[in-house]
Amino acid sequence: MRIGQIIEALEQWAPPALQESYDNSGLIVGNTNWESTGVLVALDCLESVVDEAIAKNINLIVAHHPIVFSGLKRFNGRSYIERVVMKAIKHDVAIYAIHTNLDNVLWGVNAKVMEVLGINNHAILSPLKDALKKFEVYVPKEHVEALEQAIFEAGGGKVSAYEECSFRTDGTGSFKGTDGTQPVIGEVGKREFVEEAKLEFIVPSYAASAVERAARAAHPYEEMAYHWLAVGNAATHFGAGAVGDLPQELSFEDFLKKVKSAFDTTIRYTAPAVDMVKKVAVCGGSGSFLLGAAMASGADVFITADYKYHQFLDADGKISILDVGHFESEQFTIDLIADFIEKNFPKFAVLKTEVNTNPIQYY
Ligand SMILES: [Zn+2]
Repeated sequence: MRIGQIIEALEQWAPPALQESYDNSGLIVGNTNWESTGVLVALDCLESVVDEAIAKNINLIVAHHPIVFSGLKRFNGRSYIERVVMKAIKHDVAIYAIHTNLDNVLWGVNAKVMEVLGINNHAILSPLKDALKKFEVYVPKEHVEALEQAIFEAGGGKVSAYEECSFRTDGTGSFKGTDGTQPVIGEVGKREFVEEAKLEFIVPSYAASAVERAARAAHPYEEMAYHWLAVGNAATHFGAGAVGDLPQELSFEDFLKKVKSAFDTTIRYTAPAVDMVKKVAVCGGSGSFLLGAAMASGADVFITADYKYHQFLDADGKISILDVGHFESEQFTIDLIADFIEKNFPKFAVLKTEVNTNPIQYY
């Protein structure tokens, strides 16, 4: 199994184009052509995790947080980041990060938190804007199926949890080839009328160039007639945070107990906004930027991490913020990634790190 095959599967699930601008998700150290000897999954790729991979003869670490965020100028081992990179290179260990792109998909980091809390039907809390486009293309009727398949395979026609979505209108197209053209149908200098279909697809913006390339390759004409349209639809499958309803409402105190036991942590929280908790918003990691979206969703509570004193005041009695700790809020991501790789590559060695990489201790 090549490392590249595992990365391909991961990127189908969480396309790297969905990562935030400050992020550095992707292959940080290593080569996609290497034969993989196994995968070690961690939240943070610290030096101790690289040591663990070496000891277990594993040459691919898949971590949630990228160990390198910005440019490194020296490699003398003075910082922990340099030491990780140097050791990984020295021992041919690949490091792959799947970070905010895994935060920004419906079945990512926050879906796992929802699952742990027993919330089955969750939605994206803050859907990505400008994440969708519309592709319209005209094609002779007998080529419809082949063109549709090519577009679906390139990532077009996905709407929420539905795949292979398209719309077709039949009509008549016309064209006249001038000198130098080689029309597939008809002859140069004579206007042709052809029974064609107009096909329409919603396409995630990140897949637009792949869809256009695939369509050109599958289209019979020298000049493919097509256009891209901007659509205002929110992408219900891509975006930050998640929101959903508890199967049964709980008193605020019972809800706190449930969260405390699920996350096995110390919770810092603001006063309850309601007596009974029903709607729950979550964002694994630093989620304070989503407080407005959490309030707008009507959530009674917002579970996240990295809150500062003054930010807690923003709850303003309208919602209760529960800060469960950064590591703790994302701890289930290790299971999430490991389960995904195991499911896709059942005969492959997938281990979860035994190193506790949480830098914060509680007294
Ligand atoms: Zn994080």
